[in-house]
Amino acid sequence: MLSVDEALARILAAFSPLPAETVSVDEAFGRVLAAAVTARITQPPHAVSAMDGYAVRAADLPQAPARLRVVGAVPAGSLFERPLGAGEAVRIFTGAPLPEGADSIVIQEDTDQDGDEVVVKEVPSRGVYVRARGLDFSEGDPGVEAGTWLTPRHVGLIAAMDVPWVSVHRRPRVAILSTGDELVMPGEQRRPSQIVSSNAIALSALVRDCGGEPINLGIAADNRDSLERLAAGAEGADLLLTTGGASVGDHDLVRAVLAEEQLSLDFWRIAMRPGKPLMFGHLGKTPMIGLPGNPVSSLVCGLLFVRPAMERMLGLTRPPHRLGTAELMAPLPANDKRQDYMRATLESGPEGQLSAVPFPKQDSSMLRTLSRADCLIVRAPHAPAIQAGEFVPVLLLD
Ligand code: AMP
Ligand code: MG
Repeated sequence: MLSVDEALARILAAFSPLPAETVSVDEAFGRVLAAAVTARITQPPHAVSAMDGYAVRAADLPQAPARLRVVGAVPAGSLFERPLGAGEAVRIFTGAPLPEGADSIVIQEDTDQDGDEVVVKEVPSRGVYVRARGLDFSEGDPGVEAGTWLTPRHVGLIAAMDVPWVSVHRRPRVAILSTGDELVMPGEQRRPSQIVSSNAIALSALVRDCGGEPINLGIAADNRDSLERLAAGAEGADLLLTTGGASVGDHDLVRAVLAEEQLSLDFWRIAMRPGKPLMFGHLGKTPMIGLPGNPVSSLVCGLLFVRPAMERMLGLTRPPHRLGTAELMAPLPANDKRQDYMRATLESGPEGQLSAVPFPKQDSSMLRTLSRADCLIVRAPHAPAIQAGEFVPVLLLD
């Protein structure tokens, strides 16, 4: 059986960044930048005031109190038409450009207005409350690098740099096919022997969360005809995910059936829990990851293998998983030959140190424990038994 790391490496080797498309900066949130953004303008374009008050020449105010003649006002968005002379001040507001010759701002709170004069009660230090031209960035400065997942902070900067259009990687199209005679959709009429299919719902949420576009191909029955017909819907997708039917049971047909439909299989078993039956190959030209049927296995394998594959297609440069270390709050027995991912809750102490409480039952059908978990404790193959108080690596969820 393949190790988790080898399996991931082989999956990643089959993907490369998708082509770029252009979107408006307003639509760019949650996309991955395909080409670096640089500033088209200088910000601020002039030296501007950071406060409401008076624009002055510091040389006029060696001591306080002192009087200056108020010769006009500049609100944000206007320009004072002439240079400031000796002994003069201009009423100024936050964001307004400093008149030529002015070098400092006296804040309103440190003044008294007296007719057309202002009494300055505190000596300003030269340059105080002035934002220099280009304080934030200058034309041509680097803004956001290619390979960045665009957050609200990034799109704000791109907009401020006066860049209306950006180049982003196309969203991966991910087709999802569920398999199993026992499955019905949530809310559907159900015989006593049937169960609700949840894998495709969870996986399409995962695909969206990773920046992709899910396409639900429905539920294939456990027969050749149905599987072939529904799997054909994957044509044109960047990735096909199947769930269930991947094991060695009499009704686990995915491998056998698709093998006759141009499936070239790379591997179909890995040394991990949950999720031993994990397939990877190509159906025709479409890469395919065959996920286990058990809901926890399907989603954990989704996090471990589908997410990194999608991040590769998106050209993302950040690492795929957020790993941490936590103090174990309950003993764990020795592990067998499979890498184990154990659901656990996390608590964080006063200094942010994490402690992990594993759920006592880890059956791969139990979605409720997965939904309540904050992390997966990673147990290496053949890891020895450990006591409470020791530290374990954790993969953070969400
Ligand atoms: P299989 O690999 O097809 O034998 O499925 C393993 C287990 O997962 C069985 O108990 C299935 O009923 C269950 N299962 C398979 N597909 C789904 C699904 N889409 N939603 C929920 N459970 C499923
Ligand atoms: Mg099945």
